[in-house]
Amino acid sequence: MAKPLNVLFLSSEVEPFAKTGGLADVSGALPQVLKSIGVEVRVMLPRYGSINERRAKLHEMIRLKEIEVPVGQKRYEASVKSSFLTSAHDKVQVYFVENSHFFARSGIYVHPDTKKDYADNDERFIFFNRSAFEILKRMGWAPDIIHCNDWPTGLVPAYLKTVYKNDPFFKETRTVFTIHNMAYQGTFPKASFEKSHLPTELFARDGVEAWGKLNFLKAGLVFADAITTVSEKYAEEIRTSEEIGAGLQDILERRKKDLSGILNGVDYTQWDPALDTFLAHRYDAKSVDLKVENKKYLLEKMRLPFQERTPVIGIISRLADQKGFDLINEILDDIMKLDVQMVILGTGEKRYHDLFEKAAKKYPRQIGIALTFNNELAHLIEAGSDMFLMPSRYEPCGLNQIYSLRYGTVPIVRATGGLDDTIEDFTGTSGTGFKFTNYSSVELLKAIQRGVHAYAEQAAWKKLMRTGMAKDFSWESSARKYLHLYRSVAKK
Ligand code: ADP
Repeated sequence: MAKPLNVLFLSSEVEPFAKTGGLADVSGALPQVLKSIGVEVRVMLPRYGSINERRAKLHEMIRLKEIEVPVGQKRYEASVKSSFLTSAHDKVQVYFVENSHFFARSGIYVHPDTKKDYADNDERFIFFNRSAFEILKRMGWAPDIIHCNDWPTGLVPAYLKTVYKNDPFFKETRTVFTIHNMAYQGTFPKASFEKSHLPTELFARDGVEAWGKLNFLKAGLVFADAITTVSEKYAEEIRTSEEIGAGLQDILERRKKDLSGILNGVDYTQWDPALDTFLAHRYDAKSVDLKVENKKYLLEKMRLPFQERTPVIGIISRLADQKGFDLINEILDDIMKLDVQMVILGTGEKRYHDLFEKAAKKYPRQIGIALTFNNELAHLIEAGSDMFLMPSRYEPCGLNQIYSLRYGTVPIVRATGGLDDTIEDFTGTSGTGFKFTNYSSVELLKAIQRGVHAYAEQAAWKKLMRTGMAKDFSWESSARKYLHLYRSVAKK
């Protein structure tokens, strides 16, 4: 038996403690599955003000206090509280990095009211990245792998290869960097680079600089021992498409042999209509007729009239450009003519809030909106909708379309990234959803029309639902791919 690997899983979002999107789902689920296959994994995230001490069951860690971390000209103190991730799998230890100056506020990246980035996000995440090393040293736990996720952890591989290069404590430590979204890079002016205490020569094109700025994501891509992203298709797109590679495709091309795609899984303890504790009417493929009770309940909650044969199209999304709302905007009136209802849950950019508020006013019997973040409602929409709409411009993996499959909620998606990898186009006899290829509202409308048309054929529709419900995207096989990758990196 190989000796167990020690892995620190570093993330800025971990469900159920802090979440804005799919990164949190992954960080809350994958470590538990890794643990169940023998990896000694622990998770670390910042302790944001929104994380309630009692609800998160935080415990003091007596030895992990007053740990000094340099940021700019000052030294700040980190302390650590701990809790666990516990579901059906094994218990995973979670460390919360505390510093009231940086993290005692409710937002993760943006101010909840103004929706603007916090002005000191550079210092907040420099602090988080650097404190990981100092905390590990104080703990006396040197992981074989630090698994970093997205820009908020991007400086860690750079620190390991420079500031901590000759530190015997980290002699065996390697890094894996997972890209959950290339579009968010964590870019800051040169002055922020100086606050990081990385060696001056790193502020260069083959280092952490891009277009004259410090780029956290680039730091991760240049210095990590291995890079992954969350679907195979996206792994290819970020290397080959200028738009999707978001300016960093050259580095990815250069690092091609170290880059792989590992599809996200689903935590079916959370996202399965047979087990879902948010639902009054649980169902599975055999009792799929009960789904309509969830539809009734959802429509009532959204103050929309219930008409059994009118299809309900659900959307659960960050309201960001990435998600294709400009396409929906262009054809909203045409969609409404199809005699459908829409339920939209989301929060994000103001212009999309305005768009959906206006739409709901114009079509009060057809469009219901909740422009907020609400996990319970997300579950009710998965269960109560007939179709799920995700016309993304690009999509690293996407989770809601995979959740939708299990809920018998047929996805309508654009064939990009993980959406393309997880949904098969309905041909009349096989497939799991409706796909369109070009980023065009005409094509989107056609896909919705195909969906509405298919919905009218009740028997065929039920078969389509059941085909999706039978798909299995559980974490196990992807977790084994990560384990394999960890081993190959740790051996180097
Ligand atoms: P992304 O990571 O780009 O936001 P994903 O589809 O990978 O997209 O993951 C989104 C996750 O966030 C899903 O679990 C989804 O249910 C959740 N989510 C997004 N917006 C909301 C919201 N307004 N309320 C509740 N959950 C949300």
